[in-house]
Amino acid sequence: MSKNVSEVKSTKKFLMINGQKIETAKYASLKSPYSGEEIAEIAMADKELTAKAIDAAYNAREVMAKMPAYERAEILEKVVILLKEKAVEAAEIITAESAKPIMFSKAEVARTIETYKFAAEEAKRIQGETIPFDGATGGVGRIGYTVREPIGVIGAITPFNFPMNLVAHKVGPAIAAGNTIVLKPASQTPLSSLFIAEIFEEAGLPAGVLNVVTGPGGIVGEAIVEDDRVSMVTFTGSPSVGIGIRSKAGLKKTTLELGSNSALIIDKEIDIDQIIDRCIMGAFSNQGQVCISLQRVYAHEDVFEEFVTKFTEATKQLRIGDPFDPETYISALITKGEAERVLGWIDETKGSNANIAAGGNLKDGILEPTIITNADHDLKVSCQEAFAPVVIVNKVSSVEEAVNQVNDSRFGLQAGIYTDSVKNALYASQELHVGGVIINDVPTFRVDQMPYGGVKESGTGREGIKYAVEEMTEMKLTVWNQS
Ligand code: NDP
Repeated sequence: MSKNVSEVKSTKKFLMINGQKIETAKYASLKSPYSGEEIAEIAMADKELTAKAIDAAYNAREVMAKMPAYERAEILEKVVILLKEKAVEAAEIITAESAKPIMFSKAEVARTIETYKFAAEEAKRIQGETIPFDGATGGVGRIGYTVREPIGVIGAITPFNFPMNLVAHKVGPAIAAGNTIVLKPASQTPLSSLFIAEIFEEAGLPAGVLNVVTGPGGIVGEAIVEDDRVSMVTFTGSPSVGIGIRSKAGLKKTTLELGSNSALIIDKEIDIDQIIDRCIMGAFSNQGQVCISLQRVYAHEDVFEEFVTKFTEATKQLRIGDPFDPETYISALITKGEAERVLGWIDETKGSNANIAAGGNLKDGILEPTIITNADHDLKVSCQEAFAPVVIVNKVSSVEEAVNQVNDSRFGLQAGIYTDSVKNALYASQELHVGGVIINDVPTFRVDQMPYGGVKESGTGREGIKYAVEEMTEMKLTVWNQS
């Protein structure tokens, strides 16, 4: 039994509605994805309880809309302070519920703190603009300006893979902008959300502003998406669920942060030794369960062999095991079913031209970090989102060919290119059809104030606090007639 799982264990976890802990008729056992040990019993909400949470958020709208910016900023600043004090506990919660190796959980908590800090800062600079009305013949004698008003109740639906920071990317800007929230965390990772809700309460957030409803996506999530009192749904998760949400959301605003099979181009003359560590992090951190995980590498033929050799050597050194071990780099996928799915995808490559250069098997129930070379485009490991520690490496003869390969995807979140050529960097930045192009780094690069989101099946809308605040506010115009 893992010692630290026991330390974060507590029996029952309740819904958080209108500042109250609410019991439910049903509870589900939450188990560690690594050890299978029970961590907690989680309240399972139904449609009625979800509606109660929406009631609370709806009724708290006025309180939030009238709260001055400095007060919203102060609450978020207090959250930053409290989370710094409780950073170790926070990281242990993430590791217990998601099997994220503790080194990465600590990094997630550090980023979450920054995300709330950005939100606190952003609360004070939500601005409109003045309009030069006399630019139109009919506008002479008028002055006017825009303001950005809170949108109201925001339904936030979050995935398991960054249970604290991806919640912060929704809750932080929502509060900065003066909105209220009904948060539905992934069923495997509710503890991080409940923990954050308690921190917000301690920081002085009024009751009803942040409500956490745990339960099945098909019940709680759908009830949020279909309720007319919810003005916006912000969703991070799989493309299939995201597309379903979009089709049911009607006129609600929707931000969808979906999946990807992110790619990296390595140009000729790149110093391979300098990039191996970043490629390891990009492909294998959090077991590859990262929406911008490095899944496809297109290496120039001049550096292909050297890259494969050195990348494979480094991959074989990675420590696999207990996520609470500070040395562990790779631990269990979120469910056994996910490991089976990915093994099936790896198996599919065996009847093709592809070669498995590293990994490919389960070790003590954990999928080894896997490198596959010469993978055809139609293999699932190439064209679908692996969301696992699996990366393909293919040879190309030019940056143009590589860009075409990267773009030949249903997804378009971020792409990276290592190149010493300004011409090639500029070409890639102009031609890659993605939400973000990262020059001289892996596509996995993200800091929390940058605009972040995708094109094609990777979604719609942008996160990154300033950009999320734009999505979470509505523009209102006031025009004064001076005559
Ligand atoms: P899912 O889409 O399975 O779940 C995401 C959330 O949606 C969960 O809270 C889930 O609840 C809920 N949900 C499930 N069904 C419905 C429904 N019918 N209506 C409303 N909500 C529903 O994704 P995962 O948690 O498995 O996360 C992995 C995915 O997230 C990957 O595709 C990954 O790429 C993507 N992702 C994208 C990011 C980005 O910023 N672009 C960042 C991180 C991840 P429940 O858990 O109860 O099923």
